[in-house]
Amino acid sequence: MKAWLKCTRCGRTYPPDIELRLCECGSPLILIHEIEGLGIGGTELKKIIGSRPPGVWRYLELLPKAIGEPVSLGEGGTYLQRAERLGRELGLRNIYLKNETVNPTGSFLDRGSTVEVTMALHSKVRCLECFSRGNLAASLAAYAVKAGIPCRVYVLPGAEQAKILQALAYDAELIYSSRRSDQLGDGHLVEPYNPFFLDGLKTSTLEILEQLDWNPPDAIFITMGTGSNLTAAWKALSEAESIGLIEENSTRLYGVQASGCAPIVEAFKRGLDEVEPKKDYKMIFPDISEPNPILGSIVLKAIRGSSGSAIMVGEDEILKSIKLLAKTEGVLAEPAAAASIAALKIAVDDGLIDRSERVVCMITGSGLKDPASMRELFKLSYPKHVRVSGTKLKILKLLSERSMYGYELWKSLKTAYGLEFKLPTIYQHLSELLRMGLIVSKPPEKGFGRRMVRKYHLTESGRRVLVESLNREP
Ligand SMILES: [Zn+2]
Repeated sequence: MKAWLKCTRCGRTYPPDIELRLCECGSPLILIHEIEGLGIGGTELKKIIGSRPPGVWRYLELLPKAIGEPVSLGEGGTYLQRAERLGRELGLRNIYLKNETVNPTGSFLDRGSTVEVTMALHSKVRCLECFSRGNLAASLAAYAVKAGIPCRVYVLPGAEQAKILQALAYDAELIYSSRRSDQLGDGHLVEPYNPFFLDGLKTSTLEILEQLDWNPPDAIFITMGTGSNLTAAWKALSEAESIGLIEENSTRLYGVQASGCAPIVEAFKRGLDEVEPKKDYKMIFPDISEPNPILGSIVLKAIRGSSGSAIMVGEDEILKSIKLLAKTEGVLAEPAAAASIAALKIAVDDGLIDRSERVVCMITGSGLKDPASMRELFKLSYPKHVRVSGTKLKILKLLSERSMYGYELWKSLKTAYGLEFKLPTIYQHLSELLRMGLIVSKPPEKGFGRRMVRKYHLTESGRRVLVESLNREP
């Protein structure tokens, strides 16, 4: 079976070559598989696929060919979770989550990395490189380790620290620059729109189809940065149709971007065929903030061609969706992933989705990768979910009457409640309350004795938590 690279704009073709990602005309290339060359029908292919172990490489006939074992960490084969409790919240009967958080490095990109790195080894590449603000760096670095070749990451401004640390743990070399170094330019650059990489990403949609018994869902919601995941989904659906894995490609694709940097959604709303690069943008969630998405025009075509839509969601809506998803389905998503849930909610409200339709949301990455957003979320959930009891509650009560020094508190607990502790115990409680943001301590006031003593004050959060906790006291 043959395969070749084809330009998405001018149609020019090239033989498969890992170093090729753009056509001479400047547009991205995709890998075309000669379906007829397979010589088998859909039914037969389904059986062959079904006989292989789960994972990306199960769909061998629709992937680039390499000699030898794939470079794998066990990516793909992720759970398609029926989300009944979330569905009840949103008023939908048939929601599914494609839970990509369980991939080896915690994101869907591992599917692209296994294919790209396998092909890189096949082409005798000696070093891998990428530009990244987070997830791509972590994923590529892990697969480079498995392949036994070095990985160099150009860390872009605004990168997410935890994910970059993840790449560092996988022994990547970090260069804080948006330009490739000329002296070091010997590596193979992995972009999320590389044709082989896209083919790896495509397998999440192939899995969705297979998990739904080859009956395509009515809609798939996918967050967009460069647009690679949506492009891959579109490619998977069209290939599945032309090879006879599904009867009809009837799935509507919904692309999602976060407000602050949503050039694809803006182009869609304005009816444009091309995405205009954004000069002014806010990078709220760095990993999906792509001001100049190179796959923009393909994504627009895919969305329109599938009768889907492009939806923009706000920061607060995204954070609330993280919480909603976690508490209804036990899936902790990072903001980029939860954005698909936020968009689904909007689509339901706008009447774009019928209540009985089968809808899949791609949960592309794990919330564990983004402690900063988790902290934001925790702030949002005050005071509803934070309660204190026992000595801490008594300390808050005393501080609500007046601010006090530690020693004063110690004495007051004794006189007001008959509680007797050693002094350090009080300071232990105080430091925990400080960390929870329920109290603050001010530096010593001028002229107060000779000892460095701090006065403790109740914060607004502390006041709310106190009220909530007192209401719950028996
Ligand atoms: Zn071209």
